[in-house]
Amino acid sequence: MSRFWSPIVHELSPYVPGEQPKGSNLVKLNTNENPYGPSPRVLEAIRLDVSDRLRLYPDPNASQLKQTIADYYGVDAGQVFVGNGSDEVLAHIFHALFQHDTPLLFPDISYSFYPVYCQLYQIDYQTIPLDEDFQIRVEGYQRKNGGIIFPNPNAPTGCLLSLDDIDKLLQNNTESVVVVDEAYIDFGGVSAISLIGKYRNLLVTQTLSKSRSLAGMRIGFAVGHPDLIDALIRVKDSFNSYPLGSLAISAGVAAFEDQDYFQQTCQKVIDSREWVIRELAALGFDVLPSAANFVFAKHPKHDAGQLVSDLRKQGVVVRHFDRDRINQYLRITIGTAEENQKLLAIMDTLI
Ligand SMILES: *Cc1c(COP(=O)(O)O)cnc(C)c1O
Repeated sequence: MSRFWSPIVHELSPYVPGEQPKGSNLVKLNTNENPYGPSPRVLEAIRLDVSDRLRLYPDPNASQLKQTIADYYGVDAGQVFVGNGSDEVLAHIFHALFQHDTPLLFPDISYSFYPVYCQLYQIDYQTIPLDEDFQIRVEGYQRKNGGIIFPNPNAPTGCLLSLDDIDKLLQNNTESVVVVDEAYIDFGGVSAISLIGKYRNLLVTQTLSKSRSLAGMRIGFAVGHPDLIDALIRVKDSFNSYPLGSLAISAGVAAFEDQDYFQQTCQKVIDSREWVIRELAALGFDVLPSAANFVFAKHPKHDAGQLVSDLRKQGVVVRHFDRDRINQYLRITIGTAEENQKLLAIMDTLI
């Protein structure tokens, strides 16, 4: 607290990211990073960009990356917005596209950055409870709102909403912007980008941090009608003209170009996830169905907080949210086969 702070800063309760432990040999299963490195072609593209040319500003529009993403999804470059991680894209969406006179709607259990952006941009919100199986019920969103946002698959549950349900939600909600945050879509879902031609109020966000192993580069994007994209560009150009550095632009392009590597690593994560789910279930855990690169699980006889600290003592870090309805759950990122085996071997001794 300082008397120099602006009134809004006094009121903020910032997002707390998962721990990034320094230089240790911990098995890190707490922030949903990809256990495999980025494509060798991405590393090569970055190497080629390390030169005297770094004295120059990057392309403020990151046109090459927008075009690459547009080609990948079969849309126009004018339907693509890119930013410094999807968190920044989301911040601009909250700023540019959600109304202030009626509440924004999102699930009661969801990405905990959403209420933080609401506070920063002074947006009213209302949470809609997931059902008892932790699924999104689209009927709950049929009410007056200033926007709707939810992750799909949802975080931290990993549960997927079908494209049919998203279509139903959009049919009944045409007067405000609907954002589908697809941070984990490549691990088992179908993107709602296929619906943007049908609904001009739909915006889909994705990130290269998870399925494309580039959390350290900070690249995210949104796809939607050019009217929505223009709003985001207006905010971006009133905030930071160069959100993506030249290395990030090249890395992003190469990541989309190496489709084989992308598909192989996603498939390895998916196969490992199914193994982890089976093994945890065999130890008595209740595991939610997951379409993401993490699982959400609780044990009927063991306190989640205790399990987290016992795992930590043995060198494995997982995420725990001390919040209503989910404080007995662990969110465990899928690691390499070796890391997953270590997790399960330790869990076996704790249960
Ligand atoms: C990881 C994540 C993001 C942010 O991704 P970045 O591109 O790394 O900022 C956004 N939404 C959800 C639901 C996430 O899990």
